[in-house]
Amino acid sequence: MEQSGYRATTIVEEADIVVINSCVVRQSAEDRVISRLGSLIPLKRVNPDMVVALAGCMVDSELDRLKERFPHVNLFLKPGESTELLELAGIRAVEAVQDIGLRTFSPTAFVTIIEGCDNFCSYCIVPYRRGRERSRHPTEINSQVRGLVECGVKEVTLLGQNVNSYGHDLSGRPDLADLLYELNPIKGLERIRYLTSHPKDMDEKLIKAMASLDKVCESISLPAQAGDNGILRAMGRGYTIENYCALIERIRIGIPGAALSTDVIVGFPGETEEQFQGTLDLLSDIRFDTVHVAAYSPRPGTLASRKFEDNIPLFEKKRRLREVEELQSGIAAEINARLTGQTVEILVEGEKKGRWWGRTRTGKLVFFDSDADLPGQLVEVEIEKTSPWSLQGLLRRVI
Ligand code: SAM
Ligand code: SF4
Repeated sequence: MEQSGYRATTIVEEADIVVINSCVVRQSAEDRVISRLGSLIPLKRVNPDMVVALAGCMVDSELDRLKERFPHVNLFLKPGESTELLELAGIRAVEAVQDIGLRTFSPTAFVTIIEGCDNFCSYCIVPYRRGRERSRHPTEINSQVRGLVECGVKEVTLLGQNVNSYGHDLSGRPDLADLLYELNPIKGLERIRYLTSHPKDMDEKLIKAMASLDKVCESISLPAQAGDNGILRAMGRGYTIENYCALIERIRIGIPGAALSTDVIVGFPGETEEQFQGTLDLLSDIRFDTVHVAAYSPRPGTLASRKFEDNIPLFEKKRRLREVEELQSGIAAEINARLTGQTVEILVEGEKKGRWWGRTRTGKLVFFDSDADLPGQLVEVEIEKTSPWSLQGLLRRVI
């Protein structure tokens, strides 16, 4: 869009095109999108030429229903679809542009390798909205990644709700490890990441591939969701805490220094104080680098919302949420403090408030100063200061 002359604005009244990117995982996110869409109706009346596009998970197969509900929305873009928007913005939707979407100027890019989910965790709406798992063919992914690298991308993150079940629906059943072996030799590509892994589908072959492939970053996102076997069973996650901890052990032996992140839900129906304590114990025992915590939100149509009463009051969910956040910020502060004095490799992604920023291979956010023009460069930075959320350092050399 920038190529065809558009500029980003934070003042919605000034915008010619408004894109609202939606998420339906939690009710609060969906409610926010609906209220944002409503707030655009008076603006559309004043400025009928304003284009409103709704993107993301809210745009499902029931397009007619959406059109009826939001008649002031001009474009409905399914997840990953940008062609119509780019056409409207005056860009010819040639394949290359389609592939790189709106991320032309970033040295990092996301590449979806598998869509949908077959797991039906009892609380989750994703399989209902995004359908069953569909893997993209390795050849198609390979050529997209090569195209991105030709445009200056240095790091790709392979995406899927359940990325490590990749390939089971393709002929020859290539898996994620096979795909990593195929992408690693691409010249000019410096880093490969992937998100999100399901603990039950993480196998030894994948751990070995990560350990042996130089471009695959030592960082894994492995949602645990809860630290109690009863809750895990009610969630339908397909593993126990014992399986999960043993897997973490194997990852730590196989990939020394791997950064681990997880997702947890607090206030799942019936979660007792003791069961919640199980989640805190899990976080204390494993000491994740990052934890994403969410309060349980009943999603209409899911098994949990039909079978269990949402009986943990909101104030209690919020207390549990805060406890997780406080515990985790202490753990992350300690983990990050150990990096002080170490020199780490950063891929510079951009500038914020006059400082360069980028990430380590383990995904940690680092800020530093330099007069050089550095986006897209790999550099070495010596860490001087740390916090639970980011690091600051001194530029040592451009690699
Ligand atoms: N596929 C990944 C997995 O195996 O966990 C995660 C994808 S899910 C869309 C992203 C996160 O949203 C989940 O890890 C979970 O913590 C959270 N989430 C999903 N449904 C939720 C719900 N009904 N209430 C609260 N959090 C929810
Ligand atoms: Fe949702 Fe993830 Fe479970 Fe799939 S694996 S149902 S996306 S939480």
